[in-house]
Amino acid sequence: MSKRIETVCVQGGYTPKNGEPRQLPIIQSTTFKYDTSEDMGKLFDLEADGYFYTRLANPTNDAVAAKICELEGGSAAMLTSSGQAANFYSVFNIASCGDHVVASSAIYGGSYNLFSVTMKKMGVDFTFVSPDCTEEELNAAFRPNTKAVFGETIANPALVVLDIEMFAKAAHAHGVPLIIDNTFATPINCRPIEWGADIVTHSTTKYIDGHGVTVGGCIVDSGKFDWTKYADKYPGLCTPDDSYHGVTYTERFGLGGAFITKCTAQLMRDFGSIQSPQNAFYLNMGLESLHIRVKRHCENAQTVAEFLAANDKIAWVNYCGLPGDKYYARAQKYLPNGSCGVVSFGVKGGRKAAETFMKHLKIAAIETHVADARSCCLHPASATHRQMNDDELRAAGVSPDLVRLSCGLENAQDLIDDIAQALESI
Ligand SMILES: *Cc1c(COP(=O)(O)O)cnc(C)c1O
Repeated sequence: MSKRIETVCVQGGYTPKNGEPRQLPIIQSTTFKYDTSEDMGKLFDLEADGYFYTRLANPTNDAVAAKICELEGGSAAMLTSSGQAANFYSVFNIASCGDHVVASSAIYGGSYNLFSVTMKKMGVDFTFVSPDCTEEELNAAFRPNTKAVFGETIANPALVVLDIEMFAKAAHAHGVPLIIDNTFATPINCRPIEWGADIVTHSTTKYIDGHGVTVGGCIVDSGKFDWTKYADKYPGLCTPDDSYHGVTYTERFGLGGAFITKCTAQLMRDFGSIQSPQNAFYLNMGLESLHIRVKRHCENAQTVAEFLAANDKIAWVNYCGLPGDKYYARAQKYLPNGSCGVVSFGVKGGRKAAETFMKHLKIAAIETHVADARSCCLHPASATHRQMNDDELRAAGVSPDLVRLSCGLENAQDLIDDIAQALESI
């Protein structure tokens, strides 16, 4: 029986047998014991299933990854220590020195930096395209050495909704997979695999945790991309791995398991960005209420966005749930039940007015964070983008008056009352 998403949030990933703990056990152990060296050898050769060292894999992590995998409708998944690690691994698992990736330009700043600076130093070249480009413009960005396409369902902080189907179509026409960072939408509001995405990543630090407790990430593979059709392009998946006694991942683990097994066996082994089992346990507690929390975050954000749009001290509002928003139509298609709890807006009076407004907020705290149960806000021009002048800010798509407000789970009227009194102070 396939279960509905709410039931998977609560019970997915872990089914105790007779007499076993009801709650997911935290396997707080770096290592695992075996009777013979031969038993251990089989694990090292990937010939048997099992755990031997928590830098590569841990049962608590795997249970939580299995739950997220089921929520996204994937074939295999793994947790990572952060969203940054998840995005790095998802790309580096199939693109290395000399390769090229097409990415939407409207992505999280940390991902943009990872791709355009750090991965560039590793020899992976990125072409950034506007998320609103035409199909022709998108197709023109591909090169013979392109290995993947990357985008975000709802971009942080631009709140651009991606046309996932169009990006998937272009990726597949060029024989490469589409990787979607689904952090802001969560599988509650959008399941990118259903729209053609091949690999889904998360910063679980945001809504999946949802309580500001743990930094973490996740990679989910759909199992649908046929690497063997493009074996020349993906030798790492389709030819023997000398560092694993000649295992060919697609042969041994099939299309459903090849990507994640390679990512664990090579990248996690060598880079070690594993999530601690304790953090995976906290993450699982967040997942148990994800379906309830996300709905409430969206309701609060919708109410706040409508209030802001009608207020004459507000210059503009970005929220795809507003009928006048540039991404309203796309959101109706991809996010019919709601988008996310983050709203961005401009305060009339520019940088100075935005600073005054935020200083007077009593419920929403000033933080470099989003997607927490507690409302929080950020003025990028005086925080994350502080070093830029107004012209540079505009070029980066961040206007000097932009305030990013992440609506928490408080009472919506209290949030509005707080915003109203802070606006009075300007
Ligand atoms: C926060 C974030 C990341 C980075 O995740 P960390 O857990 O902070 O490493 C990646 N993508 C998106 C969309 C994010 O919001």
